[in-house]
Amino acid sequence: MNRAASVVANLIWAGLIWGASALAADAPSRDDLMKPYPNPAWDKFAVAGNDTMEIAPDLYSFRGGGTRSIFIVTKDGVIATDPGDPQMAKAYREAIRKVTPKPVKYVVYSHEHWDHVRGGQVFKDEGAKFISHANCVTHFKEIPDPDVVMPDITFKGNYTVKLGQHKLELIYLGRNHGDCMVVMRPDIENGKYLFIVDLLTPGGAPMDFMPDYFPVQWIKSLKQIEAMDFTVVLPGHGVPLASKSAVTERREYLEALIAAVKADIDAGIPRSQIPERVKLPKFAYLRGNTEQNLRDNARRITAFYGIGW
Ligand SMILES: [Zn+2]
Repeated sequence: MNRAASVVANLIWAGLIWGASALAADAPSRDDLMKPYPNPAWDKFAVAGNDTMEIAPDLYSFRGGGTRSIFIVTKDGVIATDPGDPQMAKAYREAIRKVTPKPVKYVVYSHEHWDHVRGGQVFKDEGAKFISHANCVTHFKEIPDPDVVMPDITFKGNYTVKLGQHKLELIYLGRNHGDCMVVMRPDIENGKYLFIVDLLTPGGAPMDFMPDYFPVQWIKSLKQIEAMDFTVVLPGHGVPLASKSAVTERREYLEALIAAVKADIDAGIPRSQIPERVKLPKFAYLRGNTEQNLRDNARRITAFYGIGW
């Protein structure tokens, strides 16, 4: 697609599998999506669906079901990210083909969790090289899944994927959610976009018992991300883009949750009673922040104070 066309058609809606097709006319604008939640522009993404959005020239966000990935189009081919699962990967490949006939040369894994990294064979078949942090490989060997394509290229610390005229910087912040998570910064529009998977979901509460999250390291990583020079979050679930304030929103939620649990522990409340007692009215607006979810979140933090994990 040429630049002029892309300005007009900055939203391409696919609606492939779940029938959640939407017309460009009612697609939200980037400016509307940048406003914090509660934000009616975000409601269109509350149910599972497939869509592709051009975030910036050469940079796209694709959603398949509940999972999101980004891809970068270069003159020498495409850099793709998490394939999701076999069903999503197929739709993702088709969505990329609607933007460019060029081959996918690289697939980059954000971290090791199956809801993001299964289904890559469709890209492997066309010759794509798979890239992840070295710790992901250890995990894939310990807990193999037949739908996970093993990485061809691994690294420790940071790594930069280079293809054609573009670069994708992979930034490892240590153990935070799993132990091989990278956040990704495309070299587009002065690096103003950061693809952040699972460390936050804009406008949403953390998932139930916060599986494979390490609270202390998680907050440390969020603070490191807040200190980075960027303005737009490209999330791994939900909306295609959001303001950087989504990082602060998640950190403040976690800090409030931890403070509430700690206050009860310091007051001598039995640990078994604490999850029922935690209330965070300031965050009542978050999607998914049900009483049950909050209890599960609080139970995870109570476990942290029990064993330091
Ligand atoms: Zn995850």
